[in-house]
Amino acid sequence: MTATAMNATHTGEFRAAGTDLSERRRSGVSRGPLIDIAAAPDMIGMHWAADGSLRLGAFTTIAAIAADPLIAAAYPGVAASAQGLATPQIRHLATLGGNLAQRSRCWYFRNPHIACLKKGGSDCPARSGNHLYHVAFDLGPCVAPHPSTMAAALLAYEAKVTTDRRSSLTIGDLLGDGSNGTADNTLQPGEMIKSVTLASPLQGERALYKRAISRTHAEWPLVEVCARAVIRDGTFHLIRLAAGGIAPVPLRLAAAEGVLQGKQASVSIIAEAAQQATSGAKPLPMTGYKVDLLKGIVRDVLERLMG
Ligand SMILES: Cc1cc2nc3c(=O)[nH]c(=O)nc-3n(C[C@H](O)[C@H](O)[C@H](O)COP(=O)(O)OP(=O)(O)OC[C@H]3O[C@@H](n4cnc5c(N)ncnc54)[C@H](O)[C@@H]3O)c2cc1C
Repeated sequence: MTATAMNATHTGEFRAAGTDLSERRRSGVSRGPLIDIAAAPDMIGMHWAADGSLRLGAFTTIAAIAADPLIAAAYPGVAASAQGLATPQIRHLATLGGNLAQRSRCWYFRNPHIACLKKGGSDCPARSGNHLYHVAFDLGPCVAPHPSTMAAALLAYEAKVTTDRRSSLTIGDLLGDGSNGTADNTLQPGEMIKSVTLASPLQGERALYKRAISRTHAEWPLVEVCARAVIRDGTFHLIRLAAGGIAPVPLRLAAAEGVLQGKQASVSIIAEAAQQATSGAKPLPMTGYKVDLLKGIVRDVLERLMG
């Protein structure tokens, strides 16, 4: 069935490129009717407005975002995040909407024989089990980190998401605050992401993306950070830090931003910000290493932004 043919009496799971969905269907984790998303004109491509803002259709591929020179110039953190995720083959197919709405990578969730909160179970088996790749900010009953790299980048850019039912959603509105362990996002059954809008870039802004990963490629990151800054006359006029891989939702590192905002850039203030990046961390027995990774990555991207 296509999305345009869907009516209110039909429910099912949307399929965009299927790079996440197909694996879940094959293993039996996800079942039921499928609704193929048709490439409607308002869901494909990139549309630059006269004010310099950009609307990305939800059906735009990650590869198209990664390769676009205008995006690289205006939103380098978005481009670098798209270039850094998955593999060339996956990026070629995977869509922006599917990336934001992809389901958890937790090995318990992905195992069809194990119940968990996201599959109607009563507890999170990872919490008492093997949670080596899980959260270091324990914000809710499920301890799986949110898998979307694009969501972390778009959080740093304060992008807005439009669905067929809601508009001007922040990434926080779309994904929630991590306290609901039963879902990966706030989308209601049958609610479709249509587009993502990025505000016009600020003059002189720069950005960097960095991830720590357990193998050289084709893997979700252990920790990832997208940092944006406007540094003028040596002073941080704007700083946005967003991190993925550490919590049930991507997090803005507000305490670290607070250390830097309006301050003269220096090695010592950056060291203080990196320390503050971990404020609120509550690692699990096996995830303390992610706190150190986060601190190191924040320090590195800030020093490179300053340089
Ligand atoms: C080896 C490997 C490494 C990877 N590494 C990373 C990584 O580092 N970072 C990262 O972010 N991802 C990573 N991925 C995941 C990949 O990016 C996602 O599988 C892909 O983005 C999903 O897009 P899709 O279009 O195929 O979505 P689909 O598989 O079609 O759909 C995924 C989910 O989103 C829902 N959905 C799709 N489109 C919409 C829409 N418009 N509105 C509402 N719901 C929708 C579907 O119903 C489904 O539940 C990796 C994947 C692989 C295989």
